[in-house]
Amino acid sequence: MLQGVREWNVQLVNSIMGQKDARYILNIRLSSTMSQDTPVWNYTSTGEYSVKSGYHLCNQLSTIQRPGQKENRELTVDLKKCCSSIWSLSISPKIKTFWWRIMHDGLPVAENLRKRNIKIDHACQTCGEHPETQDHMLFQCRVAKEIWALAPTRFGNEEEVQPQSHQNVRVLISLAKRDKRELLSFYIGWRLWKMRNNLVFQRKREHIVKVIYDAVRYFEQWEEANIKFNQEEGEKMRRKGQNPQDQETVPPCTQYFCCVDASWKDDKEVAGVGWSLHGIQGNQLIQRSSSTNPTNTPREAETEALRMAVRQMRALATIVKVRNTESISMVQDIVDTSKTNGFTFTYVPRSSVMLVDELAKKARCNNQNYVITWF
Ligand SMILES: [Zn+2]
Repeated sequence: MLQGVREWNVQLVNSIMGQKDARYILNIRLSSTMSQDTPVWNYTSTGEYSVKSGYHLCNQLSTIQRPGQKENRELTVDLKKCCSSIWSLSISPKIKTFWWRIMHDGLPVAENLRKRNIKIDHACQTCGEHPETQDHMLFQCRVAKEIWALAPTRFGNEEEVQPQSHQNVRVLISLAKRDKRELLSFYIGWRLWKMRNNLVFQRKREHIVKVIYDAVRYFEQWEEANIKFNQEEGEKMRRKGQNPQDQETVPPCTQYFCCVDASWKDDKEVAGVGWSLHGIQGNQLIQRSSSTNPTNTPREAETEALRMAVRQMRALATIVKVRNTESISMVQDIVDTSKTNGFTFTYVPRSSVMLVDELAKKARCNNQNYVITWF
C-alpha cells in the first residue's frame, strides 16, 4: 500500500504478483477507517467456520470432474441423490444419520473394522455362516431376511431383497415415497443393527418379533411426536397472524428509508451501484447511481454500494433505513460511519428494490459517471 493515502501501490503489486492475482488484489477495497483485517470464512453468512459449511464445500469440490473420472463422478452423483433423499424423509434424525452412514459404508461391522487393521472375528455375529459386511448384516443374513419377510412392509415381501446395500436403499426410498407407511423399513434396518450390537456387546439375543415390534414402536412414536409438533407450530403461526419474516422492521421513529443495490457481472468489468432515498410514505426524494471499479465478488459490489450510500446519507444528515448486505472489512467502515447517525440496516428481497437494482444495472452497462437526481 502507498503510505498515508490508503491506496494500493499498483506498480509494486503488478511487478511482484502474477496478472490474475494482481487484479484480484487491486480489486480489494481498502478500509477508509483503517479497520483491522480479520479472518473470515466465506461460506457462511456470519463469516464463522462451521463443520456443516465445510462439509458442503467439500461436497461441491468433489463433484468437480477431473479427466478420466466419469464413472466415479456418476457414482458420486447417484450416491448424493440417495443421501439427499434420505435427509428429506420424514423419519427421526438419528435414523437418517444411520442410513447416511450405510450409504458411506461407515458402520463398524467386522469387515470395516478389519479394513482399519482391527483384529476381530470376521464372521457374522448373528448367523456365524458368512463374513459380516454391511450388506450381509442388513439384508443378506438369513436372520435379517426372516425379519424383512415377517415385517409389515413391502420390502422383503413383494419387493425382493437386492444383492447390494445401495440398491436396497434405493428400493426403500422409492417405496416410502409412494406410501408413507413404508418408512417403517428404515426403522427395521436400524433395529437390525441394534439387535446385532446387543448380541456383540451384551451377549443378549433378541427375538425377531421383538426387533420388529421395537421398530414399529419407534416409528409410531416419531410419527405422533411429529404430528403434535406440526400442530403446535401451526398454532403459533396462527397466533402471530403472519410470517415473522414478512414483518416490517422499520424502527418506530423512522422518517426516511434508503434502498441500496449493486449490479455485478464479473471481476474484470466495472460494477454499478445505486441508491434511492424515500420518505416513510414511500415518496422518492433523491436517487444516485454510478459505475465503480471492478470488485472480486457481487457481495463486495453490494457492500461498496452500501458504504457509498451510508457516507452520503451521513452527509445529508438524515436518518435512514438501508438494505443490508454482507461482505468483509468494508462492513466495519459502514458500521463506523453510521454509528453516530442512528442508521439501522435491514435485508429486503430484490423484488422490493427494483428501482435501485435498475439504476445500478444501467450505471454498470453505461460505465456511467456519478449521477444524482433530486425530486
Ligand atoms: Zn449372518
